[in-house]
Amino acid sequence: MSENVGCRCYREPEAIISAHYELNDRIAVITLANPPVNGLGHATRSDIVAGIDRANADPGCDAVIITGSGRVFCGGADIREFNTPKATAEPTLHTVIRVAEASARPVIVAINGTCMGGGLEMSMACHYRVATAKATLALPEVKLGLLPGAGGTQRLPRAIGVEAALDMIVSGKSVPAGKLADTALLDAVVDGDALEAALALARRVVADGLPRKRLRDIVIDDPDAEAFFQIARDAAAAAAPRFPAPRKCVDAVAGAVALSFDEGLKQERRLFLELLASPESRALRHAFFAERAAARVAGVSATTPVRKIERVGILGAGTMGCGIAMNFLSAGIPVVLLEADAAALERGVATLRRNYENSAKKGRITSARVDANMALLKPTLAYGDLGDADLVIEAVFEDMAIKEEVFAKLDAVAKAGTILATNTSTLDVDRIAAGTRRAQDVVGMHFFSPANVMKLLEVVRGKATGVDVLATVMQLAKRIGKIAVVSGVCDGFIGNRMLEQYMRQAMFLLEEGASPGQVDRALEEFGMAMGPFRVSDLAGNDVSWRIRQRRYVDKPDVTYSRVADRLCDQGRFGQKTGAGWYRYEAGRRDALPDPAVDAIVDAYRREIGATPRKIGAVEIVDRCVLALVNEAARILDEGIAQRASDIDIVYLTGYGFPLFRGGPMLYADMQGLFNVARRMREFAAAPDADRVFWTPAPLLERLVAEGRTFN
Ligand code: NAD
Repeated sequence: MSENVGCRCYREPEAIISAHYELNDRIAVITLANPPVNGLGHATRSDIVAGIDRANADPGCDAVIITGSGRVFCGGADIREFNTPKATAEPTLHTVIRVAEASARPVIVAINGTCMGGGLEMSMACHYRVATAKATLALPEVKLGLLPGAGGTQRLPRAIGVEAALDMIVSGKSVPAGKLADTALLDAVVDGDALEAALALARRVVADGLPRKRLRDIVIDDPDAEAFFQIARDAAAAAAPRFPAPRKCVDAVAGAVALSFDEGLKQERRLFLELLASPESRALRHAFFAERAAARVAGVSATTPVRKIERVGILGAGTMGCGIAMNFLSAGIPVVLLEADAAALERGVATLRRNYENSAKKGRITSARVDANMALLKPTLAYGDLGDADLVIEAVFEDMAIKEEVFAKLDAVAKAGTILATNTSTLDVDRIAAGTRRAQDVVGMHFFSPANVMKLLEVVRGKATGVDVLATVMQLAKRIGKIAVVSGVCDGFIGNRMLEQYMRQAMFLLEEGASPGQVDRALEEFGMAMGPFRVSDLAGNDVSWRIRQRRYVDKPDVTYSRVADRLCDQGRFGQKTGAGWYRYEAGRRDALPDPAVDAIVDAYRREIGATPRKIGAVEIVDRCVLALVNEAARILDEGIAQRASDIDIVYLTGYGFPLFRGGPMLYADMQGLFNVARRMREFAAAPDADRVFWTPAPLLERLVAEGRTFN
């Protein structure tokens, strides 16, 4: 006998069924059906509770099974309901757990696939669990700066032991079911179908009158636990000093040993709420959603056609061209690499091979993979070889005349429909497009150096860029493991345009009395991966020097400190010349303070008649970070960035902005935009200030007036 109907305590008329109820020979089977991951949204939670209640009310039912569908059992909370009333509406996950644990009919979970977060916490409140060996289990809450707040920190240590539980909870990593066999967590791990095995177990439980087991009843007897927790706390603090969640995970798990189950639950709840209110968790949750939002592009929908990308051409085998090529080769996509110069081509190919071989030496890839990747590479000097590429990315010298010439040649040889992309950092993508007969196919793909490592890809949308081209490039970015953010056309796009203002402030701070070391230390203490002067030494001071030379001509009304020019006059280009804002010993990357730099800065101060003053870390951070924020507000207002959170993603993934602060825009929101604008006015009032720059951007003023935030 079998009935198949959706069950629900409450249902909106148009709502789809999110769990099925079926009676299979006196065993009720509740199958979660909330794609894509069977998240525990309000409707699903309601269906589970309704299903358990119905089974308990039915004299023709002896036991209940909860299972998933497809390759997923349950992915945990339904992220689509985050920050909506449904997230906290009854029945909450706590209610589901209470109902399952208290059910008079035994509840058996058939873990058919991925089982994460709330899905695992719910499972642990049931009486028996069966998993397929292919399933993976995780409590990943720590990745959002939280801890498992529905009993996970209390039941998991009882199920698998303190050490293993702590490892799962503090790392958030997925563990294969096979590794958890022979623990109280899983009553059986089977190679075949989890549901079949659960049905068999359910019949045995009923026939033999086996008890409804509860993990909460297990008492942990571990006399060494406290010493172990102390080590774990120290390790968590050392590994993630700016994030409180890993340490609180340890505290919560310690409660599973030291306290009664109910007291441990209460402590878990308290710690969870503390984390939920923490700025670090807010930042992590923001970054999580921001990354998803960045994938949505105005004008592009699920039905926008995408072009097939099976072969890629790259122009220029320099620093960027080679790094970009590696992304595609590593993803199994053949690459034609074109150079103007045979020696440069040979050098490029050798660099590429060496990079792969180094990865193999470190054990990251096999040597067979090195050969396989290299076999996909076709080096060439002939444009004709680009004829069947579906996408060509140009990475030649940053010079408009050269780019225009290269695009004209490409236009002549590329087949119809080939996407023509430029990796330019500063040049006008619209002008490049206008030089071709197919402006709709031209787009910017701005990779960051080292291009095979850095996650960020700015996708530059020209005036004429087709929506199918954007859709294709966004999809391709995912395929090669990049996080893509769309930017409109402007000098520097989102990231470098903001960086220029940040660097300008760093230079002014030197003029006014700070040292490179002081500025770097203040910003590194704030959380930046590297201070501006160390970054500049790494990237090469000559790069920004060349850009500034152009700015002096193009933007005569903008004030630039010339202090960095004095440094470059002496050939101090950074690490590559052994000297920049710091000095470097041969073969080492440590930035060592250099009295010669102090002398250059002193001489420059005398040159401009500046009297040095003492500058504190707070001013250094505010000047540099708020310079990012003010420029970002302009970028947002001009529509160069689609949304504030895209800017945060650019800075988190491409510029070493601290994740625990969530990006410059979230940082500004958390400071309060009123305070941010007020601080800018303070800077504007200083005697030598750049008043034009420090006038709060119009968008910032509007948001302050309306009491709103960026995000
Ligand atoms: P690079 O000097 O290392 O490489 C440029 C290569 O292009 C050289 O090997 C050169 O021989 C080759 N080339 C020059 N003219 C050519 C032509 N007509 N046809 C074919 N090949 C030609 O420079 P790079 O650092 O790799 O920069 C390349 C592009 O990437 C520039 O537009 C730059 O602004 C941009 N970019 C650089 C970085 C970075 O950090 N280096 C980051 C993002 C974007």
